[in-house]
Amino acid sequence: THFGFKNVPVEQKQKYVGEVFHSVAAKYDIMNDLMSMGIHRLWKRYTIEMSGARPGQSILDLAGGTGDLTMKFSRIVGDEGQVVLSDINSSMLNVGRDKLLDHGYAGNIEYVQANAECLPFADNTFDCITIAFGLRNVTDKQKALESMTRVLKPGGRLMVLEFSKPTNPGFEKVYDRYSFSVLPMLGKLVTNDSESYRYLAESIRMHPDQKTLKHMMRKAGLDRVDYHNLTGGVVALHRGFKY
Ligand code: SAM
Repeated sequence: THFGFKNVPVEQKQKYVGEVFHSVAAKYDIMNDLMSMGIHRLWKRYTIEMSGARPGQSILDLAGGTGDLTMKFSRIVGDEGQVVLSDINSSMLNVGRDKLLDHGYAGNIEYVQANAECLPFADNTFDCITIAFGLRNVTDKQKALESMTRVLKPGGRLMVLEFSKPTNPGFEKVYDRYSFSVLPMLGKLVTNDSESYRYLAESIRMHPDQKTLKHMMRKAGLDRVDYHNLTGGVVALHRGFKY
């Protein structure tokens, strides 16, 4: 595919995003480390800390891809708890499952291929839902947030870890240039696929900023929504509770 993401009509976005993640799945983990210089590990660790996950709980790692968060949650919730690793993309889910099995994770993890916009779970199922670097790829984000709220238990929390808007305008310029030059170049070098990483840069630029996402989460019915900027707002962690 040689069409830029900007020119993709809404109804084709899902198909395009699917192709992107089928293409990058095998090299996904190494690319994350290279592009973020390892910092994505800190963002994820912070998300786990803020999740308040405890032994025995049910957790949904949505758009969970290669399962970094699932791995950590699996240890925390233990034998009495459960983690569902869910993703719309079979290639990402397969890489995730292989990685988790290789690392000896089995008992309390389930794998479910699903679209975040229409989750195949009963109402009030999960104590906590995380969606890390996933919401940006979803076509109808509001619908997805509503679907997540529906499957949360009352008192449960949604954690959205996602690229956001750097708070310093000078830094934002440097970062924007980095995204559109270094990311496609790294993509070309490592995966011979610069197009997918241009998509990444464009999807980051177009994603709702901190306040907009906070508003969307409120609109989806979540309570006490707040956010924390990480790395100067390159990334933000939003959190909201179901009544
Ligand atoms: N959460 C993992 C992480 O932080 O490393 C993976 C993030 S990866 C950048 C984004 C993931 O979102 C991909 O695995 C992709 O397949 C998934 N995705 C895209 N659209 C989705 C949708 N509508 N529903 C569920 N997952 C989706």
